[in-house]
Amino acid sequence: MEIYPLIAENWKMDGGVAFGVVPQTIWRKLVEPDDNNMVKITSRCLLVKHHDRLILFDTGMGNKQSKKYYGYRFLFGHDSLQSNFKKSGFSFDDVTDVVFTHLHDDHCGGAVNLNEKGEPELLFKNATHHCTSGQWEWANHPNKREIGSFFKINFQPIEEAGKLNLIESEGEFLPGIDFRFMNGHTQGMIVPLFRLDNKTVVFMADFIPSAAHIPVPFLASVDIQPLVALQEKEQFLNEAAYKGYYLVFEHDYDTECVNVVHTGKGVRADKTFRLNEFLN
Ligand SMILES: [Zn+2]
Repeated sequence: MEIYPLIAENWKMDGGVAFGVVPQTIWRKLVEPDDNNMVKITSRCLLVKHHDRLILFDTGMGNKQSKKYYGYRFLFGHDSLQSNFKKSGFSFDDVTDVVFTHLHDDHCGGAVNLNEKGEPELLFKNATHHCTSGQWEWANHPNKREIGSFFKINFQPIEEAGKLNLIESEGEFLPGIDFRFMNGHTQGMIVPLFRLDNKTVVFMADFIPSAAHIPVPFLASVDIQPLVALQEKEQFLNEAAYKGYYLVFEHDYDTECVNVVHTGKGVRADKTFRLNEFLN
């Protein structure tokens, strides 16, 4: 199995949204905000070569939305799913599976484009697209808190094309790839674990979006069930420190990957890693 990070886009988010109840005076020691209190975010997807399968985990937000939408996203830099895919040496048509950790717009928007006639079309037309049945239900009947993150144009064309697979339960997805479900951020979010020869690599999605979110109370304000998220996080981090997992962050602009250790203050990051250097 080979794992490649792939940046879909870089953008900015309000620091208060990113760090919830933690005061800026504290979180700014970890992440420097700009003059508007915005912090840099990346959308780091994973491309995984697994025998004859090529699996893309999340797709970024895509580029089919309105000017107004992108006006709130504060995109910067030149990274795009298209350009970084080209650099990877694979083509969109090579992708056999797309796994959505969840259906918030910044995780799945890149899978569906609009053609010249303004009709939706799948970017990964040979791929089966997977998400949990819990998240599918949740996204199709959104609550008022998350309704601004669930756009049916991002996922309904996939179902209409017959390319959707709903995952019902946790456990093995493919040999060496296990899925955990987490419910604190949104219902039925997938956190994938990749079992390599001598390492377990975990793609953190929005469960622990950046290295700055490792301290247990540092929860994003967008988590729908903060107390559930807190409990899931505490339990997972203890396991990760005990078993020596490597955590890959989807949204950390600076840090791709860390391992974690137990300290007197709780579980904390130990060393940082670049994925391409230590994985493949
Ligand atoms: Zn999310």
